[in-house]
Amino acid sequence: MSSPTYLGIPRQEIKWCPKIDFSKCNGCKLCIQVCEGAGHDVYGFDEENKKPIVAKPTHCLVGCKACGRVCPFEAITFPSKDELKQMLTELREKYKSKT
Ligand code: SF4
Ligand code: SF4
Repeated sequence: MSSPTYLGIPRQEIKWCPKIDFSKCNGCKLCIQVCEGAGHDVYGFDEENKKPIVAKPTHCLVGCKACGRVCPFEAITFPSKDELKQMLTELREKYKSKT
């Protein structure tokens, strides 16, 4: 089976996924619910520490920030729009001859 791609770029090359600041997170699980509700399975939950974990980062939809928007404590961050744009530009250049 071939690996998933985004705009012709292997998904695992794209560094886009939520980053959690655990000093702000209270373990409410809203982020997990929103992600699952949107049909994705990025998150797991660490029962011992009562915190979400980014279990499947490459399953995160590139450009989505839904979980970050619902977090009551702004504990979730993503690369900026400019960082994403630059990353995609560089990767498209790298992979354009291979697609
Ligand atoms: S929504 Fe925010 S506070 Fe709640 S579990 Fe997720 S990261 Fe933690
Ligand atoms: S950004 Fe979207 S797809 Fe990615 S983890 Fe959050 S809700 Fe799920």
